Amino acid sequence: MKYFFETYGCQMNMAESAALALAAKERGWEEAESSGDADLVLINTCSVRATAEERVFGRLAQYEALKKKRLAGGRPFTLVLAGCMAERLGDGIKEKYPAVDYAMGTRARPAFPHILEGIEKGCRRDTTYPWDTSSEKADFVFSSSHLEDGTFRSFVPIMHGCNNFCSYCIVPYVRGREVSRSPSSIVEEIRLLAEKGVREITLLGQNVNSYRYSASGFPALLELVAETVKDTPIKWVRFLSSHPKDLSDEAIAVMAAHRCFCRHLHLPVQHGSDRILEKMNRRYTGQAYLELVRRLKEAMPGISLSTDILVGFPGETVEDLEDTLALMEEVKFLYSYMYHFNPREGTAAFDLPGRIPDEEKRRRLARVIELQKQHTAERLKERKGKEALVLIEGISRKNADEIICRTERDEMVVAPGSASALGRFGRLKLSGIRGNTFRSKNIEIEKSCSKS
Ligand code: SF4
Repeated sequence: MKYFFETYGCQMNMAESAALALAAKERGWEEAESSGDADLVLINTCSVRATAEERVFGRLAQYEALKKKRLAGGRPFTLVLAGCMAERLGDGIKEKYPAVDYAMGTRARPAFPHILEGIEKGCRRDTTYPWDTSSEKADFVFSSSHLEDGTFRSFVPIMHGCNNFCSYCIVPYVRGREVSRSPSSIVEEIRLLAEKGVREITLLGQNVNSYRYSASGFPALLELVAETVKDTPIKWVRFLSSHPKDLSDEAIAVMAAHRCFCRHLHLPVQHGSDRILEKMNRRYTGQAYLELVRRLKEAMPGISLSTDILVGFPGETVEDLEDTLALMEEVKFLYSYMYHFNPREGTAAFDLPGRIPDEEKRRRLARVIELQKQHTAERLKERKGKEALVLIEGISRKNADEIICRTERDEMVVAPGSASALGRFGRLKLSGIRGNTFRSKNIEIEKSCSKS
């Protein structure tokens, strides 16, 4: 039996797809090279933007045709719609796309082995038992491992859902309220990853800073993680996403106290205008964000910061945009994910007056992108000539004699090397810059897994 997954959206979806693949492999399934060769195709979906959903609708239409062909040839074919779209649309999707056999929302993931079992036995499973997503009791269940085959970096989900209701965001509606994973389950997964020689982990959640399990909050979890990875091959720990209103001084202090925590933080600001931040329901001001940045830099000199910026929110004036540009000027992010507002039905911002015309949104976004380009160039220039520890992540697509590396500050470096170095740490000099990537002439590959 063979499976084929298509994964869209955030890192949480990638982690969940890896966990589903493990569940299939445990039952003896193999990964198919293409969807045409698979007994089961699973599309793990994202609902954050309407365009992401439209893309999946297009794929579903293509799978309708494939399914007809396969059934005509006498080979069964099962199509599973998973993730946020399945959570949002439920079984209603099957009316428009009858090729979909199962709509498996994020909280219904424990149903997956039952679906596999049904395919193996050639019978259809009842999707309403016991993983009925419409049930209020259907709490999120974390998988025990999320390691992708053959990799040396892994996501470790620590929480699921979000309680924040930023006015533009659909996540709380499709992922539900926050559920935190038990510290013992997190530690168990990290130990397993260490045994498998994983070198870097990323703790994942929609808002990791609000992690809470019994009396244990995020700073206590960071302490526990630091203790767990000590003297293991896991040298680097990252976490995302962080909400500026919830990142406490205590968490910053723990991060600063342990060198396993990478000196990079993705801290989505979204906007620089207090008026717009309030309309977005972000619950911090531009000044509070800048204060937080100051405390981070004071605690961890040299830390790099990246962010998300959303322009063209309803009612945004040119002055509001200037506030965003001024905040960017002050922080000088290493990079940003920049996008313009797209109304998402079902969110509070959908009904807000003062929508900005598309052309104007694009113009404003272009200004933000232009400024970010300058800041990225400045940040990279500041680092040119410095020594850095890197994790070797891949081979260059253009040149098989070159390796792609990443610094703890989330900077990319190309250096000479071969596939034998993959998954190892190395030391190099950031000697040149091409585009947004550093170049290095030499790399000294670390032989042991010892901690620096
Ligand atoms: S914190 Fe805001 S933007 Fe992030 S997932 Fe929650 S509601 Fe969405």
